[in-house]
Amino acid sequence: MFTIAIHGGAGTLSKSAMMPEKETAYRQALQKAIEAGKNILEKGGEALDAVEAAVIELENCPLFNAGKGAVFNHKGEHELDASIMCGKNTSGGAVAGVKHIMNPISLAKMVLQKSQHVMLIGDGAEQFAKEQQVELVDQSYFYNEFRYQQWQQIKGEDTFALDHSVEIKNPKMGTVGAVAMDVHGNLAAATSTGGMTNKKWGRVGDTPILGAGTYANNNTCAVSCTGHGEFFIEQVVAYDIHCLMLYKNLSLKDATEYVMLDKLKKLNAEGGLIVVDKNGNHSLVFNSEGMYRAHFNSHVNKIVTAIY
Ligand code: ASP
Repeated sequence: MFTIAIHGGAGTLSKSAMMPEKETAYRQALQKAIEAGKNILEKGGEALDAVEAAVIELENCPLFNAGKGAVFNHKGEHELDASIMCGKNTSGGAVAGVKHIMNPISLAKMVLQKSQHVMLIGDGAEQFAKEQQVELVDQSYFYNEFRYQQWQQIKGEDTFALDHSVEIKNPKMGTVGAVAMDVHGNLAAATSTGGMTNKKWGRVGDTPILGAGTYANNNTCAVSCTGHGEFFIEQVVAYDIHCLMLYKNLSLKDATEYVMLDKLKKLNAEGGLIVVDKNGNHSLVFNSEGMYRAHFNSHVNKIVTAIY
């Protein structure tokens, strides 16, 4: 038995702004990404490879704020963050503030598998990428008219915004992530983002921080988060879910709903998370209007995509 779930960010385009063609495009992108992970899992492949494969598809799709679709920072550049974690041995890899990497999730996986470190940032991370024969791309690879217009709306201001809003004053999110349990019972989680529009000073959110935006442990679950990163770091959200299940014996449903719909909601922290537990159950919870998401459980054998 295996399970996989993915997200393309909480805080979708509002229902009223979502055109049917756009909705179809999002659903097709989610379908393609979950299939990439599912194809690996059904051949007996590893959860770590499946979550990477699903996230690569989402990073390559300009609809989401990660990889190709990454938002603009204060200087009009793109700075990307990603992390991945293996639940079997709780090993992790992360990169932050990289500017020339097409698939930051794969670089995070290389940090996990090919370095003695857990997190690399900026130029150093790109130097490591070069040494691993990763092709570096020009910043123009990430150019996207929709994101450029989002940035134009707030560029002169001293504010920053989460993604996916037409009305940027009502900011929303767009990070991507995947969690899975493979047929061997191993869990993995992966998350990737362009962060917040107009971010400055090398701002880094929860996405590349293990325990905050990403966490996996075979004893409990695998978690990938999206939302207002500062809150997710302060509340150590992904690890919190694990702890509630491990130390307090909370069910997957109770742990995810308590953190997302009670604790974070009371702090006005908008966002969502996807979790697969050690028994292959999934929970996809958000306190925003929507969250691009999909899941597949081998025993049900049906891909389900949803937005609102
Ligand atoms: N969590 C991400 C960050 O704060 C943003 C997002 O989920 O859209 O960088």
